[in-house]
Amino acid sequence: MSVWGGLFALLAAIYLAECAAWVRRNSVVFRALVRKGWQVLHPLEWTGNESGGLATAGPLPPLAPLIHCHLWPVSLSEEGVFAYAAQALRDVGRPRQTARFLKWEQVTEVRLQGKRVLVNGEPLIETGSPVFADRVAGVVEELSELPPERRGKAIRSALREAMDERAIRERMESFREQTLSLRFTCNLFFLVIFGLVPTMLLQPALLQRWPFFLAAVLALLAMVLLDYRRAHRALYPDAKGQRRAHFWMILFSPLAAIRARDVVARDLLANYSPLAVAHVICRPDSFRRFARERLADLRWPMLPVCESDDEDARRTEEAFRGVLLEESERFLRHAGLDPDALSAPPERDGNASAAYCPRCDAQYAVADASCEACGGLPVTRF
Ligand SMILES: [Zn+2]
Repeated sequence: MSVWGGLFALLAAIYLAECAAWVRRNSVVFRALVRKGWQVLHPLEWTGNESGGLATAGPLPPLAPLIHCHLWPVSLSEEGVFAYAAQALRDVGRPRQTARFLKWEQVTEVRLQGKRVLVNGEPLIETGSPVFADRVAGVVEELSELPPERRGKAIRSALREAMDERAIRERMESFREQTLSLRFTCNLFFLVIFGLVPTMLLQPALLQRWPFFLAAVLALLAMVLLDYRRAHRALYPDAKGQRRAHFWMILFSPLAAIRARDVVARDLLANYSPLAVAHVICRPDSFRRFARERLADLRWPMLPVCESDDEDARRTEEAFRGVLLEESERFLRHAGLDPDALSAPPERDGNASAAYCPRCDAQYAVADASCEACGGLPVTRF
């Protein structure tokens, strides 16, 4: 490989790294595929560890970004807040959690530190996004200040707000409008870097005109920066620090500039339930598949459901899981799906199959087996 070829390969490798994003175990990423529309994307298995894994945005035009959503990371009850949630994504599992429990009267200060929420100066949870951490901190603070009799209603209200389809639709519409120009400039930038550069390297006559190429790159970079700042300001008016940090990153890396729209997309729907987001942006069959997964996880959570020795904490987890299930079923009915029909047994893989796991649909030849992938959950006979 020539020196130029080697440099180009290095450029492509750095670019692919720019396309990758770390996804926590309790986060759900959506990516639009050309023929299938928006899909839930699972992190690449070989990149995973106990806290998460890598997922990649679309590397080729139209440069599909990733939208990150998050499962609710704490259990809330009228008694207190428990930094543990039993929810777990299929084939991913639960993240490590602090399992710290505080009664509401013990909560004196709620503070934000990047993606982390601190209560009384100690870490409560770490989330996949500063935007979502801010939302969780707000809910925890509000509940700690409310009289006990109003907390139950406030918890339901927070969950319903996260399932507000109209708000999700409006946010998606704003994203499309605000990033229309950014989308064009990012794609053009991609074509210049990965189309024009190799052409120049192969034709020495063109290589001599490098000042024109440099001028074009600088002009495009300026356009990306302007479009990025305008779109980010419109969609995240309060996130000045984040906007500034990414601005400098884009300024010094043309490869980061190609992915500038990803930065704007990432936290667009961070405060909304993945279930509600899937209903708004995915096609009906994809939504149905994801809804079945989420419902099964709430009805038959992975074992052990909760290992805490603290009775108050266990009660909070159980109560919150119940409220979350009720609200999710209410949402599904509103979306035109019958929760019981959605939880129907999977199609049987022939006579050799005697039972299935109600959580992950794996099928078993013996009826008294337990599903290891779901922590030893007893299977259900067909
Ligand atoms: Zn299972």
